Amino acid sequence: MTLTPEQRERRRESDRKWRAANPEYYRQRYAANREKAQEYARNWRAAHPEKSRENSRKYREANPEKVKGRILRWRADHPDRVKAHKHKLHDKERFNGYRQSVLNANQGVCVNCGGKAILVHHIDGRGRDHPAPNHDPKNLVPMCNSCHAKHHKAIQDAHS
Ligand SMILES: [Zn+2]
Ligand SMILES: [Zn+2]
Repeated sequence: MTLTPEQRERRRESDRKWRAANPEYYRQRYAANREKAQEYARNWRAAHPEKSRENSRKYREANPEKVKGRILRWRADHPDRVKAHKHKLHDKERFNGYRQSVLNANQGVCVNCGGKAILVHHIDGRGRDHPAPNHDPKNLVPMCNSCHAKHHKAIQDAHS
């Protein structure tokens, strides 16, 4: 049987109410099946990468404080990983050694908005994660974090 969106929404709403009225039931059930629940969630995310991204975006928007707290706790628990990550970000050898000169060119500002450039973008899309990265200086431009994210999101949307 297929439910109409209205029916589905109503069912979800009554599930929500039931859960809110019986918090212990779910807590215990979840604790008893934690591994299965986590595996189920993992499989679901793997099968629905886009919905999963959308859901976590919504969650982050609705719970910015929780997310921030979790990140801070993770950092406090993993000082070595944090250090390694910082090192990687500032590694002068990245992009065949062109990273710093690309950032310094264009007066250190983002080619898009003129804000402070903190990362290097590959014009042809062949970046670090590409099987054949193109670190030719002509292919590299300095960008700020926000323009870079927007740019890649626009590309992703165009392809989906
Ligand atoms: Zn920018
Ligand atoms: Zn990029």
